[in-house]
Amino acid sequence: MAKIYKDRDADLSVLSGKVVAVLGYGIQGRSWALNTRDSGIKVIVGVRPGKSLELARQEGFEVYPVGEAVKKADVIAVLLPDMVQPSVWMEEIAPNLKRGTTVVFAHGFNVRFGLIKPPNNVDVVLIAPKAPGKAVRDEYVRGWGVPALVAVHQNFTGNALKTALALAKANGFTRTGVIETTFAEETETDLIGEQNVLVGGLLQLLRYGFEVMVELGYQPEVAYFEAINEAKLIMDLIWERGLTGMLLGVSETARYGGLTVGPYVINEDVKRRMKEAAERVRNGEFAKEWVNEYQGGAQKLRRLLEQVQNSQVERVGDELRKLMRGK
Ligand code: NDP
Ligand code: MG
Ligand code: MG
Repeated sequence: MAKIYKDRDADLSVLSGKVVAVLGYGIQGRSWALNTRDSGIKVIVGVRPGKSLELARQEGFEVYPVGEAVKKADVIAVLLPDMVQPSVWMEEIAPNLKRGTTVVFAHGFNVRFGLIKPPNNVDVVLIAPKAPGKAVRDEYVRGWGVPALVAVHQNFTGNALKTALALAKANGFTRTGVIETTFAEETETDLIGEQNVLVGGLLQLLRYGFEVMVELGYQPEVAYFEAINEAKLIMDLIWERGLTGMLLGVSETARYGGLTVGPYVINEDVKRRMKEAAERVRNGEFAKEWVNEYQGGAQKLRRLLEQVQNSQVERVGDELRKLMRGK
């Protein structure tokens, strides 16, 4: 059983009298900054001039250029886009790091794949919320929190885990539970999960499910409901009641058809390819490909996104969503 930390395992006073610099005021950064401040801890924001700087200022934070914020802080939370982090690290963070600073990442990508190499005289920890940034704030405000993972990569001060748990508590994460992991496990499972299942596999399954019906001559609108729209309802059942709960919540016919045909369609060959894709994550090939793509201007990403945007399924979906919202 995984080691799970709760509120009682974390001590907020570890951060009293300390300054936490949140670097980036975007999807995660804003939520972390607001939550941590509401937990009574001194928070400053480090960001470049622009929209999010203005917002952070409006919301009452002292805002500094990234390097200045790093200089003033005891704990820095690196909440910049993953692909931006290595250059900001080299130019603005590393030159200003003090001995004994706690460096917090929300995703292990850059450390795991060696794109950021922190010096030996700082603590390096991971607090990875397992939810979108909006939920990180909404749940905190509701008096609860989203689950998260915690890991220690480097423990220079001897207090790395205590500091990480304190910041996790300040964000409400220990109210639900914070699972102990490693940078490698968090990074690899995050990528493998989003590629094979959440973003990649699911998207392709929905697209093929829709296309098969349309190519067989059924009306696209009907196909959209059957292959895509109802997927939400099935996921809600799984989320609330588990796999068996979902199976017991559909008709007997759906249960029998699903259990017999599912493994025929998504067969061992698919599983074998999932393992191949996972191997490309584990051996760093995927990270290398993505960093090259990003540095080259991300043309392929743009093209692939446009293909989805311009596909028939999206036009049908747009119309039906308007209909369902009564527009
Ligand atoms: P965002 O894309 O929302 O971060 C954007 C922020 O970074 C903005 O404030 C932006 O400022 C600032 N920024 C961008 N470039 C620079 C720069 N060169 N110098 C200074 N500031 C800059 O990031 P996320 O919140 O999505 O991700 C942050 C981290 O959290 C990542 O490690 C990610 O993997 C992790 N994470 C994210 C989740 C999510 O829900 N999105 C979930 C779990 C983990 P500006 O407005 O000026 O562009
Ligand atoms: Mg993820
Ligand atoms: Mg991810």
